[in-house]
Amino acid sequence: MKFELDRVFVEEEFRDGPMARRILERLPPGVPLEYVADGRPAAMADRSQPDSFAAGKRRLILMRRRSPFLMACPAGSGEFACCGYLVLTLASNCPMDCAYCFLQEYVADNPGFQVYANYADAFDELQALVRKAPKRNFRVGTGELADSLAFDTLTGLSLELVDFFARQRNLTLELKTKTDEIENLLNLDPRGQVIVSWTLSPHAVFASSEHRSAPPAARIDAARRVADAGYGVAFHLDPVIAYPEAERDYLQLLDHLFAVLDPSRIVFFSIGGLRLSPGLRAAARRRFPADPMLAGEEVLAPDGRYRTFTPLRARLFRTLSERIRRQAPGLAVYLCMESSAMSERIFGAPPPVPAVLGERLAQARRS
Ligand code: SF4
Repeated sequence: MKFELDRVFVEEEFRDGPMARRILERLPPGVPLEYVADGRPAAMADRSQPDSFAAGKRRLILMRRRSPFLMACPAGSGEFACCGYLVLTLASNCPMDCAYCFLQEYVADNPGFQVYANYADAFDELQALVRKAPKRNFRVGTGELADSLAFDTLTGLSLELVDFFARQRNLTLELKTKTDEIENLLNLDPRGQVIVSWTLSPHAVFASSEHRSAPPAARIDAARRVADAGYGVAFHLDPVIAYPEAERDYLQLLDHLFAVLDPSRIVFFSIGGLRLSPGLRAAARRRFPADPMLAGEEVLAPDGRYRTFTPLRARLFRTLSERIRRQAPGLAVYLCMESSAMSERIFGAPPPVPAVLGERLAQARRS
């Protein structure tokens, strides 16, 4: 994937740092560069642009993160069947542009593509966590407010991340992506501590809604290559979108995946339905008015998000989880941001409490 950058901003204090050097060496020629004392104004929405969110994606800002790097997953709450995931925010926003992406609402006021140059502080936070809970296992992901690998050719951050996590015993890193940018990973030894996960969608969803991402077949091929290189691999069928041919297309996608990758090499699957807060739904429909994937008749669910009608959603979840379990009995499959009642309906049992599921997933890679 090629970055389309209009401008790069670097905070003065990082101008001679290793990250600035790496990014500036690899920038496409001709991109204007500006040094600033504080990158925050450059990250704010430029409302004079017709699409300030898209314009933000084209403004890369290398800056200090001024709040903690580590936090609980924003999807986590007592309401949902969650996996006890911790989020490490090393960047904010993403060079791809998925029509359903929650960032359209979440970072609408600060859509600049921020890369945090003081990322070494994140390692200190992780070490403090391990000191506080030395007997627990944690799964830590970098793919929440940005795709984990979409900017790796510029930053080379995965090299340091894998090196750090490979030396840990009770921290597992999850790199979550829709790209096939895996070259940096292939010559490293993750020593059982790194999972690379892909969000997978049928070709129809990719073509209509996942702009600038890698095609599903390329993602699956990349997964096979990182599995061969010693990484755990996992998949997120999320968001599952209930368009008319969805059942057929998602099953074909799973068949293709299992034909390419031995199911025994997969650490887990998560499944989640399309969910749109009213603000996100309005922003997405405004930005992508012709996208048929956004034209479904969702209903307002008790959590305040528009979701596919429950029986239809449950039917898709059941069909997909049954196909996965038929191919790989015993493989961990869980629902993301769905109620405990939905989990009982699909799996016949309530989900394990978040911390327990998180530990199980973190350990699964090493067992
Ligand atoms: S790849 Fe992920 S973070 Fe990037 S635009 Fe798509 S949904 Fe958003």
